[in-house]
Amino acid sequence: MDFGIAGRKAIICASSKGLGKACAIELANEGVDVIINGRNNETLEETAQEIRNATGVDVTAVACDVTSEEGRAKLLTACANPDILVNNAGGPPPGNFRDWDGDEWHKALEANMVTPILLTKAVIDGMIERKFGRVVNITSGAVKAPISILGLSNGARSGLTGFVAGLAREVAANNVTVNNLLPGPFETDRLTATLQGAAKKNGTTLEEEWAKRQSSNPSKRFGKPDEFGAACAFLCSNRAGFITGQNWLLDGGSYPGTF
Ligand code: NAP
Repeated sequence: MDFGIAGRKAIICASSKGLGKACAIELANEGVDVIINGRNNETLEETAQEIRNATGVDVTAVACDVTSEEGRAKLLTACANPDILVNNAGGPPPGNFRDWDGDEWHKALEANMVTPILLTKAVIDGMIERKFGRVVNITSGAVKAPISILGLSNGARSGLTGFVAGLAREVAANNVTVNNLLPGPFETDRLTATLQGAAKKNGTTLEEEWAKRQSSNPSKRFGKPDEFGAACAFLCSNRAGFITGQNWLLDGGSYPGTF
């Protein structure tokens, strides 16, 4: 299938590793020039070189914290008029909501709700004028099936989801789509860190927690980041112009509902 997006430009936030990186690679495989981002410059430059070598597209690396105003300005200076925006950032920490004060809530809202909304606001009118735009937000399966220790994530990402539901309909007539990808467990550093935390808490090993979590998933495995990236590239393609306002769960069948 020809995705029809070669030569387009994409900003992929938080993409030096993990799911964001997988999205950048799959878009680059389709001939999209990518602007990638992360806070650690060394990791970011390594990823940029890896994508250049593998695909030959233009790769611009912007080292900054996307959740800060300064960081977002840096990204937009590197590419003011992207055709594609993939919003992503690290997830908030787990915990008990009784321990969180206003600062912790504001930080989570800034990272996982306000940042994607402000970046979308900065680029969407250009997309509307050019009659092509794709915005994809990386959220979480926790939006559909909340995880109690991830209350900050459940709350902030659900706020973004509600906003996107309205925006998607407002811009759809201009061939601009806005969708969310909801990861279940994918093999990234974040998942390893989560399982390491569980092992410590339960007095088990990482390998035991890994096996336990995999066997509880209907597919008996975790997702591979390239599977996530492929879904993202398809949503960003010319072929996906009639798909908007959707929440795609990528979880190996873990969510038990019919719909
Ligand atoms: P990851 O493997 O830890 O990668 C995170 C990437 O984001 C890194 O490149 C990191 O680079 C960058 N990053 C983090 N915070 C940033 C910031 N403030 N500004 C710029 N870059 C930043 O994580 P992941 O598994 O890909 O997760 C991506 C998102 O999906 C997270 O929000 C996570 O909560 C969510 N999620 C993941 C899973 C899963 O199973 N993997 C499941 C549900 C939800 P630097 O550290 O150098 O900045």
